[in-house]
Formats: sequence, structure tokens, C-alpha cells
Amino acid sequence: MSYIFLWELQEIDRRVESLEKESKSFPLLKSFQQQKKDWEQLAQNFVQEKEFLDKTKKSLRRKEMKLQSLFAEIESLREELYGGKIVNVKELSQMEKKLKIKEQEKIELEDEILKEMDVLEQKEAAYQKMSQELKLREKELAEMKKNIRQKFAEIKREQEELENKRAMIVANLDERLLRKYNEIYRKFNGKGVARATDSGICSGCRIALSARITEKLRSSSQEVRCESCGRLLVIKETN
Ligand SMILES: [Zn+2]
Repeated sequence: MSYIFLWELQEIDRRVESLEKESKSFPLLKSFQQQKKDWEQLAQNFVQEKEFLDKTKKSLRRKEMKLQSLFAEIESLREELYGGKIVNVKELSQMEKKLKIKEQEKIELEDEILKEMDVLEQKEAAYQKMSQELKLREKELAEMKKNIRQKFAEIKREQEELENKRAMIVANLDERLLRKYNEIYRKFNGKGVARATDSGICSGCRIALSARITEKLRSSSQEVRCESCGRLLVIKETN
């Protein structure tokens, strides 16, 4: 009797184990979580940038309004000063001083506005870039999520298939053999069943099997162990 079904059982159990490991240490899920974190950070920065932009725009509007009123003030001061209505020298010189101050104020304010507009322009460009980057990353994340779901579904499907196959094999095994199988599975870390190759070598330890063992393996229905490593030997059906 060939114990090849034990080899098949071992293959199934090994695959089940590796699938379990895979679904626990899922690298795609890890990189998804990292990317999601990065995205959240970016989204937070994006909100802050938006707040900064709004604030700058508001301040710019206020300054522009102030500039308008400065223009008007300077205009009316000039009219008064050069209109000829005021003749008092002291009053005229005071007014001249005031005009100079307002004009200086105007120059400084215009400077400030120009600088702020420059900053605003740069920040606006960066903001647009950020917005595109965010959208791109959202798309990538959605794609990753889809792949992860798909991969998990694939793993689950394969697990179910393996479970069915396993149940079929186990149903035909007697309890004593199953116990022995489990024992050597653990002992040899999932490699307790070895194949006797066509050239008469144990696939577990790679040592040549004696003629006696090979013969026993072909002719008897007993369990045969490798004399070197102690693994349970199986052989392909030859007839
Ligand atoms: Zn061996």
C-alpha cells in the first residue's frame, strides 16, 4: 500500500499554514496602512494651508481697503493744501507734515501688499499641487484597498478548497495513522512524510535508501520509515 495520500495531506497542511502566515503578516495591508497614515498627514497639512490662504486673502483685502482710504485722505489733504483757502503758515506747515506722513504710510502699505501678493501666489501654487497630490493618493489608496479585498477573498477561497480536500483525505484515514501523521508533522516541522525518489533517495534527508527498505516500500502495506532520518516514506503508485 502506498501512503502517497499522506504526502498529499502534508502538502495541504503546509499550504494551510503558509496561507495563515500570509494573511497575518500581509505586506500589502501594512503598506496600505502606512500610506493611509501619510495621506492623513497630507490632508491635515492641506487644511492648514487652506486656512493660511484664507487668512492671507482677508488681510490683503483689508490692506487694499486701507490703501483706498489713504488715497482719498491724501487727495483731500492735497486739495486743501494747494487750494489756496488756507493761508495760515503754521496751519499749512502742519498740513504739509501730515501729508508727508500719509504719503510715507502709503508707500509702506503698497510695499506690504506687493510682498503679501507674492507670498499668496506661491502658496496658491503649492496648494494646487497639494490638492492634485491628495487626489492621486486617494486614487492609489482606493486601488490598494480593492487589491487587498481581492487577495483576502482569494486566500479565503483557497483555504476553503484545502479544507474540503483535507476532510476527504482524513475521512479515509484510520485514527491511529492520523495520530502518527500529526506526530511526525510536528516533529519534522511540516516535513514528516518524505518521498522515496525513483533513484532510491529519501527526499527528506537526501540519503540513499537501502535495497531492503525500497523493496519493503514496494511490496508491503506496512508503514516504512527512512533508516537515516526516521521520516515516513511514501512512493508513487507504479502500476
Ligand atoms: Zn530520510
